[in-house]
Amino acid sequence: MDNLKELKNEEIVSLIQKGEVGVADIIDSGICPTCFDKKNNHILYGDVSSKIIFENDKFECFLVGNPRANGHTAISTKKHYKDMMEIDDITCTEIFLLAKKVMNLLKEVYKAESVYLCTMCDGPMNHFHIQLIPRYSFEKRGSKNFVKPRFDYIEDKEKLELIRNRLK
Ligand SMILES: [Zn+2]
Repeated sequence: MDNLKELKNEEIVSLIQKGEVGVADIIDSGICPTCFDKKNNHILYGDVSSKIIFENDKFECFLVGNPRANGHTAISTKKHYKDMMEIDDITCTEIFLLAKKVMNLLKEVYKAESVYLCTMCDGPMNHFHIQLIPRYSFEKRGSKNFVKPRFDYIEDKEKLELIRNRLK
């Protein structure tokens, strides 16, 4: 699947629907999976709008649809950057200060013992993003927290509203 870029949008959508093309193929072909998803009714990742906890002109911050822990959050730039190495210093400062704020909130609202941070953007076309993964008191410390099994997001309206209000 190295010529996806030469196909029409509808042709790629149809290949996805048939299960012949997946997220990895989209990424490998140099198409931005996030923009493709938004343009095509969230065919890849599902609609995150109900999970957004903060948004401004540069960033969006949302609870992950297939979290590794309750409160698993992503903070993403709206502009394209391959990875952290490509962002300017101001954007870098702003996104990490935002991450710090969100981490403190997650710890407080979800009563996590700690919150881990990772970023592993790795593809030709990307939005720089950071993942925040809470670690709870019943979980062991350490890097295994980055690969805890994923599960389906369950909305907790109370926590969602609390976090949204605090980030206003
Ligand atoms: Zn994009």
